[in-house]
Amino acid sequence: MNLLDKPMITKDSFKAMEDMSYFIHSLIFDDLLIVAQKETNCFVLKSDEGLIVIDAIWPCEEAFNAIVSAIKDVGWNPDDIKKLVLTHGHLDHTGCGKWIVENYGAKTYLSKTDDDFWQNNPLRADILKDFDIDVYIQDGNVISLGNKSIYVFETPGHTPGGLSYIFDVSENGKEYKAALWGGSAPPMDLYSIVVYMKSLDYFIEQTEKHNVEVVLSNHTAFDNGIERIKYSRKRMSYMPNIYVIGQDNVRKYFQVFRNLCYKKLNSFEK
Ligand SMILES: [Zn+2]
Repeated sequence: MNLLDKPMITKDSFKAMEDMSYFIHSLIFDDLLIVAQKETNCFVLKSDEGLIVIDAIWPCEEAFNAIVSAIKDVGWNPDDIKKLVLTHGHLDHTGCGKWIVENYGAKTYLSKTDDDFWQNNPLRADILKDFDIDVYIQDGNVISLGNKSIYVFETPGHTPGGLSYIFDVSENGKEYKAALWGGSAPPMDLYSIVVYMKSLDYFIEQTEKHNVEVVLSNHTAFDNGIERIKYSRKRMSYMPNIYVIGQDNVRKYFQVFRNLCYKKLNSFEK
């Protein structure tokens, strides 16, 4: 049977990141909500002392409204948003953070390197950095709120100061370790690809150390994101949680990113 070993990413995928006509969300664990548009998504992690938003889709009010209404739809209160944690300094992840900060006073977290990168290398010249980072985080830090801790790992390559995270999620009293690879697609130049592959090796090692059984992506193209959200929304009680894939499949998930790097490296040789 033919299974994909690389996600299908086209020029249209990049264009679709700006399409704010479609949003979907689902509570995928008792304490984790995913909100997505066609290509980019964010997460909301619930602690007993408030909510942590991880990444923020796209810099526009529609994305902010979608996140807020998703939070309300699952019975949580957006007034409880306490923190905004970013994976990296690209605008499809810094997203609508400005509105989250303005409306809820969320404390913001990113690496210093990527805060500078966001300032100095905007992906689009017409969309500049639009909010401040309160806390610079680095490898080995832990972001805590109530009963939740997010472990921080430096995984440069996609951007110079990109971060990845490991944290607990739970369903019906059972806890799982979840990993969010912050870097998404491999970079374009040879040096950054080498850095990216080193980061991948490092983060895979960390996922094994932490017995990670759940992988999360911040772009829907890498994990059939939209389909998994649709499945989760209509999941029957006898069906498995589609995000719990086990340690072997976590390893296979990361192989997808290696495959993308090999493809790029091959294209340099020609
Ligand atoms: Zn990016």
